[in-house]
Amino acid sequence: MNRQSKLSTYRDDPYAQAYPETAPFWAAAEKGQLLLKTCNQCKRAHWYPRIVCPLCASDDTEWKPASGQGSLYAFTIVERADPPYALAYVELDEGPILLSNLVDCDIRAAKIGQRVSAVFRQTPDGRYAPCFTRIT
Ligand SMILES: [Zn+2]
Repeated sequence: MNRQSKLSTYRDDPYAQAYPETAPFWAAAEKGQLLLKTCNQCKRAHWYPRIVCPLCASDDTEWKPASGQGSLYAFTIVERADPPYALAYVELDEGPILLSNLVDCDIRAAKIGQRVSAVFRQTPDGRYAPCFTRIT
């Protein structure tokens, strides 16, 4: 049996919920751009998006475009799914670590530390969520 190791659809519920305060994130994601909430007080980005910075408690935060680039922090292949898919933690170059899916690549050749880039996949409710593909 030839089991596919590629994933073409988003498999898990998005972790950034569709609240009014995350509307800018989803609007940008629909256009293929990753936004991160960034704190104007401590200058650090955080994930998931929050109104109050979890790193310094300032409410002076704003949405900023992220590079969409990062490295594979950890991952697991969910073998019980058909086809299997990769659930991955990605450490963005801006600092935050996102739980996402590894897509459009050979997930069995994935290695911790590999460079990855954001690609967007439509969720069952019609939004677009960031997934990641290997670029090395
Ligand atoms: Zn802060």
